[in-house]
Amino acid sequence: MNPHRVVEFWERSSALHYNLTAVLAWAADCILLSVLLLPLWLRNRDRLFILLWSAALALMGLGLLGLTYVTANARLLLALPVAALVSAEALSAAGLLSLYGKDRPLRFTALCVCLWFVAFVLFSLSALGPVAAVASYCLAVIAIAVYVPHFLFRHAAFEEVRFHLAIPAIFLLEALSALAVAVFYVLEKPAVLHQGTLTSITLVAGFVLFSAKVCLAVWLSIEKYEFHLRKLAFHDPLTGIFNRRGFFERIGERLKTAAPSDLFAYLAIDIDHFKSVNDRFGHSAGDVALIAFTQTVEEEVGRTHLFGRTGGEEFAVFLKVDNVRTATGLAERIRGRLADAGQRQAAGSSPLTVSIGIAVQPGAGFNLERMLSQSDQALYEAKNGGRDRIIAYGPEETPAPADRLQA
Ligand code: GH3
Ligand code: MG
Ligand code: MG
Repeated sequence: MNPHRVVEFWERSSALHYNLTAVLAWAADCILLSVLLLPLWLRNRDRLFILLWSAALALMGLGLLGLTYVTANARLLLALPVAALVSAEALSAAGLLSLYGKDRPLRFTALCVCLWFVAFVLFSLSALGPVAAVASYCLAVIAIAVYVPHFLFRHAAFEEVRFHLAIPAIFLLEALSALAVAVFYVLEKPAVLHQGTLTSITLVAGFVLFSAKVCLAVWLSIEKYEFHLRKLAFHDPLTGIFNRRGFFERIGERLKTAAPSDLFAYLAIDIDHFKSVNDRFGHSAGDVALIAFTQTVEEEVGRTHLFGRTGGEEFAVFLKVDNVRTATGLAERIRGRLADAGQRQAAGSSPLTVSIGIAVQPGAGFNLERMLSQSDQALYEAKNGGRDRIIAYGPEETPAPADRLQA
């Protein structure tokens, strides 16, 4: 490195020490974060977004360092750090998008850089001078800030993300601050870019938004992996519906908000003679039958009621009802659906039938243990009574045979 350049650099540093110190601190922060992210990515290379953010942070750090080194009037040379900053913005956005399915981060980045470059050339030609760099950078940032929320709202499954409105809020702020910076610079046309109160304000706003975006990125990735883990922990891998743990956890949540006057029904559903399906057609065919069975029942149960796989070929539905008839009506419709599905099956394979045991209890003095043992008892009676039938216990505390409704 040319020693004269280093001396010149430090002389300029002391003259503009506030802004320069801020930019240098910011650059060092970016490069440190970039390096710290790499071991995280090396631990699990499937997490492309970590690599993208690491690259984005490195480019941002280098771009900022470059800005402090290149004089504003060396317009072509100035294009290099600004290109690095635009790439950093695009790569960090691509990292965010890759969490939700966007899989061409380099194409996205290249597009953003091309957009910026066209704007840079046009602004340079239109006598904006060194301000062309700032204006074109702001334009690229605005384009990214508009595109990212647009993409996320169209493609992301936002049930995965709590407080997801933080995303458009941060990008809106980013777009607005970029717009304000661009307008100020274009109007003011400062001769030297890194001097003045305006530059200080821009730097502070940039750093705050940058920190907010890093927090957002960390937040979103945690949310995503938490969602993924919860899905694994609470769903059945074969059928995709709640497993036993997920099903009972959701029941617990519903009961928290239950009123004493509410009435709840638990339907224990057991497929009849399922072992013979496996024996006759093989375990894989049994799996396919379980998936088809789940889809058929799910269509009838709908999304408002809870439906889960509580054991191998045992399922359950939990719902709020008006009376016992509402529960037996649903059970009847499930049986009807299965019979319809059976009729559509290829000749030779017998349709699946189910036995259903129902227990109904009010919210006041609700006891899940008792409900489960009642529905078990009802299911047992349905099986003993010849299968393919429904037995329901009413909400009375100690059901007598007369309380039982047989469908
Ligand atoms: P019942 O009418 O008395 O309920 O008879 P059943 O044959 O349905 O009941 P049993 O408890 O004797 O057998 C349950 C069968 O369900 C045995 C087991 O292999 C099968 N099963 C459980 N989970 C799965 C699974 O995930 N896939 C397949 N293919 N079969 C399963
Ligand atoms: Mg069975
Ligand atoms: Mg069983």
